Amino acid sequence: MGIVLLRMSTLFLRTLRDDPADAEVPSHRLLVRAGYIRRAAPGGFSWLPLGFRVFRNVERIVREEMDAMGAQEVHFPALLPREPYEATGRWTEYGDNLFRLKDRRGVDHLLGPTHEEMFTLLVKDLYSSYKDLPLSLYQIQTKFRDEARPRAGLLRGREFTMKDSYSFDVDDAGLERSYAAHRDAYIRIFDRLGLEYAIVSAMSGAMGGSKSEEFLHPTPIGEDTFVRSAGGYAANVEAVTTVAPDPVPFDGLPEAHVEDTPDTPTIETLVAVARELFPDAGYTAESTLKNVVVTLVHPDGSREPLVIGIPGNREIDAKRLEAQVAPAEVEPFTEFDKHPSLVKGYIGPQVLGGESESKIRYLVDPRVVRGSRWITGANEQGRHVFDLVAGRDFSWDGVIEAAEVLPGDPAPDGSGPLELARGVELGHIFQLGRKYAEALELKVLDENGKLVTVTMGSYGVGVSRAVAAIAESTHDELGLCWPREIAPADVHLVATGKDPAIFEAAETLSAELVAAGLTVLYDDRPKVSPGVKFKDAELLGMPTIVTVGRGLAEGTIEVRDRATGERQEVPVADAATFVLAAARG
Ligand code: ATP
Ligand code: MG
Repeated sequence: MGIVLLRMSTLFLRTLRDDPADAEVPSHRLLVRAGYIRRAAPGGFSWLPLGFRVFRNVERIVREEMDAMGAQEVHFPALLPREPYEATGRWTEYGDNLFRLKDRRGVDHLLGPTHEEMFTLLVKDLYSSYKDLPLSLYQIQTKFRDEARPRAGLLRGREFTMKDSYSFDVDDAGLERSYAAHRDAYIRIFDRLGLEYAIVSAMSGAMGGSKSEEFLHPTPIGEDTFVRSAGGYAANVEAVTTVAPDPVPFDGLPEAHVEDTPDTPTIETLVAVARELFPDAGYTAESTLKNVVVTLVHPDGSREPLVIGIPGNREIDAKRLEAQVAPAEVEPFTEFDKHPSLVKGYIGPQVLGGESESKIRYLVDPRVVRGSRWITGANEQGRHVFDLVAGRDFSWDGVIEAAEVLPGDPAPDGSGPLELARGVELGHIFQLGRKYAEALELKVLDENGKLVTVTMGSYGVGVSRAVAAIAESTHDELGLCWPREIAPADVHLVATGKDPAIFEAAETLSAELVAAGLTVLYDDRPKVSPGVKFKDAELLGMPTIVTVGRGLAEGTIEVRDRATGERQEVPVADAATFVLAAARG
């Protein structure tokens, strides 16, 4: 950011005493109250002078690290034609989150949510040989997504700034290298931004690729749940794989038997009755197999009932299920009248599966291994079957990771029990592979003169979201509290009182600091009380607050560290040197 003297008397800024009514989280409240941003539309914000300086500082760090890793900056329009997105299927698959619009001729367009298609086509346009690769391109650009729930100010907007980059390689080993280079750059970016993060393995969802990791900032206000173990495992909930028990031999297992279990439509009531019937069996909710019916809506619009069998102590995790069945979407199942074999509350696997009469697809949790024994529905009102053995008494069409992950579940890599935490996604890196290059026919000649499909990676950082995440993680009860590299100014210089000598001294000190290369926010307002000025300085959050006031009579000024609150009286003659040293750490 350019070095300047910002005068509070003329700065386009109004700080607010009250929190905005719609602000749910501290960063949103404070950024609005401190006059950094203003809401302009649902999920859309305008940057005011101080806010835009913060934004550009974050952007600069991202840009420096992308340039340093060898990626080249380009810039695309946000208004894009439909065809490329049609070719990859995303015009439809992106669902309601995509802003679609028509031009005056009735031709379909969209506002880019990410730009895989456009980058692929640009490279196809200009490159044709393996000698041109590897290549990484990026842009820092406005993205549009019609989010179901824009919230928390900059954290989830409908219009936001993303750094998106794309790598192009001739083979898988090249993609691995490009991916690793981006991963390293992201580590440097988030370290420089001072943001805590966990790198979690993720599912790539609608993007359709293979390896993928997210940089999640742990915070209770996050919308992403992730899991971690003390031993260093971290994963998105969607990506957690279940540690399945070993199969059990059938020999010696009891025969299945049906029991009357009146009024047991829930797992709780069922377990109570099971314990009454068999007091010594040690039955718990985990002994039961709960069969949950959902409707899958496939991209072609067809609807399919699907039953998922999970241990009764768990619920279906909607996000895990959606990730597994994408691009199909999940809706609640309501058509019991059309499927008489499904007895609500008493569904059992005997009537399910591709082999069965109902033909209803049946998928089970990985814990349902051959030889495992279950209490489950007997497909009749008020009756359950006990000791129903998987693989002996019933079969299934496949295994699905749709059950919720519970604290204490083992980490798949053996690194200990999992704990659940919440986070905000700061960045996402993934290996797209050849999906986009295939759909859009991006091929190059390899060393042997043979045409090969290029393999790609795509990588995103939420630039505007990072501003909010930094505000969120650094603020205190007084207001914002910026790290030095991010702050809109190095120093907030407050002149208090009415004495012209004070304003003269403050003016001189400001000029000295600016000349030495610092940006100074100078509160030169003549008729504002010291109390109001200090409150503003605390709210605005520059890292160093310098006060020129009463102390001047004794030849001193006060220098305060905004983050630690530490104050020091410094002789006027040494003030510039002292503040400079503080600002340069
Ligand atoms: P989320 O899970 O938070 O919705 P996403 O997985 O949809 O994010 P990506 O498509 O991976 O996001 O986009 C790359 C980055 O862009 C994200 O890591 C995030 O930092 C940022 N981002 C995504 N959606 C938004 C949004 N609505 N507002 C602000 N930043 C966003
Ligand atoms: Mg993501």
